[in-house]
Amino acid sequence: MRFEISRVMDTIEQRLTTDVTLAQAVVDLAEVARFVALDGGRPINLLRLGMVVDALSRYLIDAGAMLYPVAGREVLSEAALTSKERMVLGRWADDGLIEVTPVVADRPAEIADFTGLPLIVVRDLPQQAARFPWIADSPERLLRLTPRAGGAVLTPGGEPTPPKDGKERLVVVGKATLPIVPPDPDDPATEKEMAEPAPATDPPPADQQGGRPDGLQSFTARGAQRFGRTRVVRRRFTRADPSGVGASLMAREWRCKEPDCPAFGPSRSIGQPVPRMRAGMPACPRHGEAVKDIGPRPPAFAVAVVVDDLARRRFVVATDHPVRVGKDPKNPDDISVATWLHEAAAAWIAKEHVRLEVESGHLKVTDTSENGTVIWKRSSPDIKEETERIYKKSYQLDGWDSIELYTGVELVVGDHRLQTVVGSEPASVLLDAPTVAMRLVD
Ligand SMILES: [Zn+2]
Repeated sequence: MRFEISRVMDTIEQRLTTDVTLAQAVVDLAEVARFVALDGGRPINLLRLGMVVDALSRYLIDAGAMLYPVAGREVLSEAALTSKERMVLGRWADDGLIEVTPVVADRPAEIADFTGLPLIVVRDLPQQAARFPWIADSPERLLRLTPRAGGAVLTPGGEPTPPKDGKERLVVVGKATLPIVPPDPDDPATEKEMAEPAPATDPPPADQQGGRPDGLQSFTARGAQRFGRTRVVRRRFTRADPSGVGASLMAREWRCKEPDCPAFGPSRSIGQPVPRMRAGMPACPRHGEAVKDIGPRPPAFAVAVVVDDLARRRFVVATDHPVRVGKDPKNPDDISVATWLHEAAAAWIAKEHVRLEVESGHLKVTDTSENGTVIWKRSSPDIKEETERIYKKSYQLDGWDSIELYTGVELVVGDHRLQTVVGSEPASVLLDAPTVAMRLVD
């Protein structure tokens, strides 16, 4: 069992980051680790962070969703954790995969404010709304974590939604199948449109027609009731604009006086987090001291590997960090898509198919394959697509452009994912954890 727990911790670890380019939501680590209602187990359990990762994956329909956890320093030595959990936490802190700060207070909300990332909460935050009015005014920026069917779900809006009619609604857990009814019709942040004509279907059952918001009524009226392989444009909230202070802070690189600082030290290998504001001065969240402005932050882009309309993995391309993508790149830091390829795709895609780099503030792709690469050009999410095939040459990505290595194998910038097959389902990071997994896949 210890072996499986180690493995599941390693799997969770791959989904944690404090790089603001890569992260997709921020959370108070201790608050979820102590959220006993999630599984009814120990008073504090690090595996609950995996439940949050799973819930975020299902909310975003993104099997590579990345979480930014913030932990109070005292959690690292919390006696109620196992020695294994304390060891893992220490490693995550040293590697900059979680942010450690003496006092958490409103730091997660501050990160959400500065970056625009959604904030995962387990309780209301009335005091913090005074500093961050969006907590009250833009509730869709809060994702409320609640226990559901042995796992956890995230509900936008900050309010816990009680199950209707005393019945639990179907949610995706473990290996369950997605419900036929559109997810969460009461979710105000969800809006769906058909991206292409849906196959004719039977009208929705009468009990699923009434009381829907207009958007959803037109959605169902247009025959998308059965998802099957229906493509659905997703407009669910993924990220707000950074606040003014946040935008200024994220435009610069910062340096902490502590040489070993995992957040703002010189040896940090991933993109930086955002400083904490203390008495009007940018400060290191770990060490509390003022951080020094060492110049403009080089532009960086998050890119998702999307296979069969499900995002599988996210990575960052930065000015000083070009990335090669293919089925077997030489450098282990590059991105291999081999895991997700069927035979024909594997035969087509080169070991190093494309190189991605940042040039003059733009993302540039260079085809390095034998078969070429297709660029899907879109100036906006809604415009009709146009394609261009590049062969041994470069293309500067713009707007909503995406890169196709082979049919169904795409590289998509940031959160510009257009289509999601709702039948797709991210795998759980907890499937190796026996005690949790039994509940999750039941
Ligand atoms: Zn520091």
